[in-house]
Amino acid sequence: MTKKPKILIIYTGGTIGMVKDYKTGALRAFDFSQISKKIPELQQLHCDIKTISFDDPIDSSNMNVDCYIEIAEIIAKNYKNFDGFVVLTGSDTMSYVSSAISFMFENLQKPVIFTGSQLPIGDLRTDAKENLITSIQIASTQEAGEPVLQEVGLYFEYKLYRANRTTKISAEQFEAFSSMNYPPLVESGVHLNFNYPLLLRSKNKEEKLIFRKKLNNNIAILKLFPGITEAVVRSYIHIKGLQGVILEAYGAGNAPTEPWFLKLLQEFIDNDIYIVNVTQCVGGSVILGHYETSANLKALGVIDGKDITTETALAKMMYLLGENLSKEDFKKYFETSLRGEISE
Ligand code: ASP
Repeated sequence: MTKKPKILIIYTGGTIGMVKDYKTGALRAFDFSQISKKIPELQQLHCDIKTISFDDPIDSSNMNVDCYIEIAEIIAKNYKNFDGFVVLTGSDTMSYVSSAISFMFENLQKPVIFTGSQLPIGDLRTDAKENLITSIQIASTQEAGEPVLQEVGLYFEYKLYRANRTTKISAEQFEAFSSMNYPPLVESGVHLNFNYPLLLRSKNKEEKLIFRKKLNNNIAILKLFPGITEAVVRSYIHIKGLQGVILEAYGAGNAPTEPWFLKLLQEFIDNDIYIVNVTQCVGGSVILGHYETSANLKALGVIDGKDITTETALAKMMYLLGENLSKEDFKKYFETSLRGEISE
């Protein structure tokens, strides 16, 4: 028998850690250090499990940049002593937080898997057990003495996705996430099927883990809709300290060609506010210049988000703004895949 991998479970909150008080019907957080009492099956896994919990577990709607840093610091502090990490958060903002964590670590060579559930762990029909057990199993899968997964993933309902490719698509189905522009990394059936050619590998194995935590959230999303007024778009320019805007445009990155709109975008750029063009569609890519309605954006110097999701564009912007790059480098890095978040 090979050495047992050591897995750290980080519990931050969300439905997965809740139990129902059968007298009142209310959901409340339970003591996560008692997890193996709730799921005795965990003892059958070939790994040693330790748990660490936020002092005050939160609903993921309350996740902010400080929480991202807190999770990343726990991983960084324990990186040497553990072989893999399973992070439990609420599913509502899981794509955002897991994307942010993917950028905060460069040269990651161990698995960091985010998971949660739609029903609390104490519920009879819960999806929590399968999600948690399989996430731990994937995190502890090793070949030739090294973890098979060496990136940030998100596991839900029999599929492990690259975290920075995911979007929450359902508040009802157990299959709560989709990853339209990148196939699952692992599928769980009778066997765990790793999709080896899709897995991310650090370019230089000798390089140490680099942990960056200067996230800058002076950013906003501007979602276009037919009929959007000049006053709405103009109001963004007056946001104090704003440094970046994710422009959620139509289809392949198309936007109105009306002069007032283009003039305002020019004003953003003149005011040193970066604009990144992403698509409102759940799948597919921005192709700047493909239609006349995006050619103008390209000419203005709008950054091409390609097939990045909105959640990941936000995370990448927070990360790159924190690095104080020159304008040329900011655009270059945004348009390049750093953690497998865009297709090249
Ligand atoms: N509202 C919960 C949260 O995101 C839902 C969940 O846990 O899935 O924290």
